Order: sequence, then C-alpha cells, then structure tokens
Amino acid sequence: MTAVELIKKKRDGASLSEDELRWLISGYVTGAIPDYQMSAFLMACYFRGMTEEETLTFTKLMLYSGDIVDLSEIPGVKVGKHSTGGVGDKVSLILAPIVAACGVPLPMISGRGLGHTGGTLDKLESIPCFRTDLTIGEYKRVIKGIGLVMVGQTNQLVPADKKMYALRDVTATIECIPLIAGSIMSKKLAEGIDALVLDVKTGRGAFMQTNQRAVELARILVRIGNGFGKETIAFITDMNQPLGTTIGNWLEVVESVECLRGTRGRSDASADLMAVTHVLAGAMLMLGKKAGTIAEGVELSKGAISDGSAYQKLLQLVDAQGGSVPAVEDLEKYPLPKHTIEVKTMESGYVGEIDPVELGLTSISLGAGRARIHDAIDPKAGIIVMKKAGDAVEPGDILAILHTDKEDIIEAARERIHKAFKIQRSPPKQRPLILSYVDRGGVKTWM
Ligand code: URA
Repeated sequence: MTAVELIKKKRDGASLSEDELRWLISGYVTGAIPDYQMSAFLMACYFRGMTEEETLTFTKLMLYSGDIVDLSEIPGVKVGKHSTGGVGDKVSLILAPIVAACGVPLPMISGRGLGHTGGTLDKLESIPCFRTDLTIGEYKRVIKGIGLVMVGQTNQLVPADKKMYALRDVTATIECIPLIAGSIMSKKLAEGIDALVLDVKTGRGAFMQTNQRAVELARILVRIGNGFGKETIAFITDMNQPLGTTIGNWLEVVESVECLRGTRGRSDASADLMAVTHVLAGAMLMLGKKAGTIAEGVELSKGAISDGSAYQKLLQLVDAQGGSVPAVEDLEKYPLPKHTIEVKTMESGYVGEIDPVELGLTSISLGAGRARIHDAIDPKAGIIVMKKAGDAVEPGDILAILHTDKEDIIEAARERIHKAFKIQRSPPKQRPLILSYVDRGGVKTWM
C-alpha cells in the first residue's frame, strides 16, 4: 500500500477498506504519512464523501488510535455533550457545571477553534493556568472527585483526531459529514460515556448550512452512538447569528460565568444562549436518569443556576484542573487588551441579520483564533456583540466592541463589522432557536 494509491482511490470516488483506512490513520499518527499527503486525502474525502459503512469504520479506527477511558468504577450514567461548532457557542462552559451539579457525571474531551468557530479548549485555557492536557489517571481522578472533567485530545486520547483536526482547520476540509462524524464521535466514545447529547448547528455560521445537511449529520451521529451502545440525542439548533453576546476566548468565559451566577441570561442578549443551554442540559439530565422528561430536566437545570450550585461546580472544576479560581471570582482583574474599539452604526431601523461567519473571522483576525496550525492565540481578543437580530437601532448606537492588541487590523475589522450587520426598516421574522431533534426513533419536531 502507498499513500498515493489510497489518495487516488478516494479521489476517483472508491471506498477504502478497513485495512486501508487503518494503514492511513496509523501511518499519520506515527508520522510515517506527512501532512501534505493527509491533506490531499482529506480533500479527496471532502469532494467524494464516504459510504455509511466507511464512516463507521473510519470513526472506529480514529477511536482506536488511542486509549478508551474506562469509567465503569464511577457510579451513575455518564453523559457526554458535543457541538458541531458555532460562533459565540460557549454552551459547554455553562452546561457542564449545571449537569454535574445536578448529579450526572460529565466527562468531556473537547476541541480547539476550527475554521471561523471557537473551541471549548481555547476558551478554558484563557483561564490562567487551567490545564486541559491531563493524563488519563488525572482525568479519572478529577471526574471521580467532582463529577466533571474537561480536557483535550492527547497522545493517549484520540491522537488521530488531535492531528487531523488541526490539519483540517488550515486546509479547508472541515465541512465534510464523514470527517465531522468521525472526529466528533471518536472523541465522545473515548471519554468513557454511557449516553450522549449533541448540538448540530445549522445556518450561515454552521458547518452544515442547510437544515437538510444538519439532519443528515445528526442521523449518522446518532447511528454511530447507538451502534456503540450509547443512547444518543442530536438537537438541530440555529446558527444564523452569534450565540449570546461575546466571541473570543476570555470574553466567552466572562459571559459564561455571569450566566452561571444568574446575573445574565433571562431578559438580556444572553437569553438565546441560556435557552439552548437549558434544553441540552435537560436532555442530558433525562439520559442521566435524573429527570423523566426533557422538560423536567430543564427545570432542574434552571434550579442549579438559581441555587448557585452550578457556579460552585465551575469553581471546583477550575480548581481541580489547576486554574486560577481568583481570576474567575474576580473577572475585572484580567489583563485588558491594548485597544477597545466601539463600532457604531449611522443608520436607523432594525438589525435584520448578523453574519456569524464574518464575525467569527473578524474575531480570529483580532487575535482570538489561528490562521496556521502553530499560531498562538490572544485570550483577551474578541468581540462584544451589543445588538442582536431584531433590535432597534438609531444613528450612534454601538453595534459591537472590538478587543485587540493588534493596531494594524482595526480599520479592516471595523469595516467587516459594518458589513456583517444588516440594518433594515422593519423588524425581521424571528427564527426558531431549536428546530428539531434526532434520536433512535428518527427525526422529531421541537415544540
Ligand atoms: N467538532 C469536532 O470535534 N470535529 C469536527 O470535525 C467538527 C466539529
């Protein structure tokens, strides 16, 4: 077998056998297959896709590229969560402490920023000293101690996805259903979970731009989960504007902390974020046998915010993974960016649309994401979104506030923000936030 033969085979639309996929994946992990050949293979997958059987095999081989954590000694149904990725999507940071505070153990292996979207790991690492590179022993100790752990892939945990995910990010090979399914499900199945809730984003800011593609991805994710004996529910949720009010790593931590403290998220612009968070948490609490229905789970989730237990759980997590608890308790002490720029509108009317891709890319240009694999991230960089779709605006109103240390890109970023906000004369039609969900019974409409 040679890499060139297998790239050609996929390029010409054929399916690869289990042995061929194993040879490619293990060769890539050991370094025998270089990035340039894997890039060509991934691009061939992007154009040619994979059969369902090939996708299942690909996922299994990605999973077996590292260890699978055995959490059977920990009592209770362990429930995982993953999002396909969005702009301003910090749901995991809020939901994980909620679910753990309600007594459902939650082990989580997360990813870094991908394309125009942010990643949970980069957000967690903006908390000073927070460690996401735990060994399997440390991972088990943390979840045993506090019912929650949040880490990244390592050379022990899904190393194939760790390498491939970073490569896909910089080779325009993200938006491919089999590659996304393999990437997500290999991480989730390695975590040691018994059940899983997925958030499949759809819309302009999502990798799945249409509802049909999102449902297609959700179905294969649920099939893979069920095939491995894990009860799996995949929600399809809207990503036509950023979720909540912040984009960028530390800014998103701040919004999450404020939501967990209950000082945001009811009537303000974080309401969409909290609506999605509570529904996903409700489903996890149902799968974790703490609630009879998703609706009952939503009530438990809201209770964990109002009684303060979810916020306390976040502090426990930060402490257990070496992070600075004072930085979270006293958000104001964090270093400030060199430049804080208000972008104002000169128009009057209503915000019709906010292009999440444009905002995600602008945030990356401000320093919040990577253009190349080894680029460093500025945790302070990002955007505060001051107006959401449907809000009325007058000339002089602030649309967004940019946070950056990079003076040279400010004017270009300001222009991109103006381009991203579409101001119109009448209020836009409201879009549903949660469109449907898929479980082993098929696609169900959400109320
Ligand atoms: N999230 C992942 O973990 N992997 C993908 O490929 C896309 C989103």
